[in-house]
Amino acid sequence: TYPVYGRIDGPIVMIGFGSIGRGTWPLIERHFEYDADKFVVIEPNSDNHNFLKQHNIRFVSESVTRDNYRDLLGGLLEQGKGFVVNLSVDTSSLDLMKFCREMEVPYIDTVVEPWDGFYFETESNADRTNYALRQKVRDEKAANPGGSTAVSCCGANPGMVSWFVKEALLTLAKDTGADATAPTSRDGWGKLMQGLGVKGVHIAERDTQARRLPRPRNVFVNTWSVEGFIAEGFQPAELGWGTHETWFPENAHRYDVGCQSAIWLERPGAITRVHTWCPTPGPQFGYLVTHNEAVSISDYYTVGSAGAPEYRPTCHYAYHPCDDAVLSLHEMFGSGRQQVEHEILDVDEIVEGIDELGVLLYGHEKNALWFGSRLSNAETRKLAPYQNATGLQVTSAVLAGMVWALENPNAGIVETDEMDHARCLEVQRPYLGPVEAHYTDWTPLQDRWQHFPEDIDESDPWQFRNVLAS
Ligand code: NAD
Repeated sequence: TYPVYGRIDGPIVMIGFGSIGRGTWPLIERHFEYDADKFVVIEPNSDNHNFLKQHNIRFVSESVTRDNYRDLLGGLLEQGKGFVVNLSVDTSSLDLMKFCREMEVPYIDTVVEPWDGFYFETESNADRTNYALRQKVRDEKAANPGGSTAVSCCGANPGMVSWFVKEALLTLAKDTGADATAPTSRDGWGKLMQGLGVKGVHIAERDTQARRLPRPRNVFVNTWSVEGFIAEGFQPAELGWGTHETWFPENAHRYDVGCQSAIWLERPGAITRVHTWCPTPGPQFGYLVTHNEAVSISDYYTVGSAGAPEYRPTCHYAYHPCDDAVLSLHEMFGSGRQQVEHEILDVDEIVEGIDELGVLLYGHEKNALWFGSRLSNAETRKLAPYQNATGLQVTSAVLAGMVWALENPNAGIVETDEMDHARCLEVQRPYLGPVEAHYTDWTPLQDRWQHFPEDIDESDPWQFRNVLAS
């Protein structure tokens, strides 16, 4: 038996029914009471319609656009009831959450997504960043505080990893003899991280899921949205910029508006490599792909003012996608052409592998602590249908975010850093496989090639200068 977390009265509108939508639906069905005929999906791609028909799920075959979203959603929603679960690409999270808040309908998404065209048609690189996208949502929150709850960026990462950061901090506090009482305010969490001497956080991920078939040439293969990954991979690399950094990359830019927690590099994230560490491989390369959590975590844990902080951690994604995705990136950037054919590895064709996704807190008394989920595809198959391990880490975070939103209906616009991490992880944990803490004595100065001089700072292992691969 599965816990039922509450009743959702009125229409549940799911926007997008790709790999994440398809995996989220059974969790909603399992954990909420609602009228099945009030569940409706908006999905323009006819490839997904057969599944919807076979499962008797009502759907509207349309794209949500800048021009139609008010009419389309307005025709499906009821004032003050239901839920909007946005799991699409090319729809503006900001506009959709504003409309839902007008309608007093709870809203959740997993990324700050812009309208179609933004990623490749925006002229200025500074405007194509996640910093710029996120800041607009933060500005909206500041301009219209409180009101109907809209949860921004509640997937695995961004999302769950923000809850892992808090759990990792409490683990580190306990293991170093510091006060391990959970703080109750943002200020308290910032001071806890500062007090523990954490210099920064990698969102350190290794996806080893693989199928038997070798990757066909000219096909982009991934374990989640290919479109989403290509779009973010071509955005500039971005990272939260910590107060311990003594060096500044030549190709980097700061911001003088907003929270000022991050910088961006004049280089696409998906060809920018960093040295990082995960339990299964140990040291590895990850890609510094831009993500909302890099900006939000370094913002949330800032102590002092935005422009002249007393303390701020460095924070960035360090992503080793599945091997087929690495080859797909190599082919795409090498040829200068995006593959037209896309494949998302299906749970039933994957023959081995896990998605190991955690946070690596570094620079403290115990050097580095990785805390995260090591979910295998084999275990995923037993836990929930229609998704691989990557999917379940995301969909179970959506479930947790929905539960939290129902329990906190007037929290306004929130990011996962601002939610009750213990409650969210309580809901999510049954779906995460082994959730483990691993200490390591590895630093980015170890395991490098001896034969060539590098531009590194041997006096301080955890400088970003050492993390960034040349
Ligand atoms: P997907 O590509 O498999 O599916 C996206 C779906 O959106 C497709 O079915 C597509 O037809 C639909 N769609 C496209 N344009 C639309 C429009 N204008 N209106 C309505 N629907 C539209 O992607 P996915 O793997 O299911 O990912 C869904 C979203 O979740 C993406 O934005 C992705 O970036 C995000 N995501 C977040 C995380 C996280 O951890 N935070 C992880 C994975 C995916």
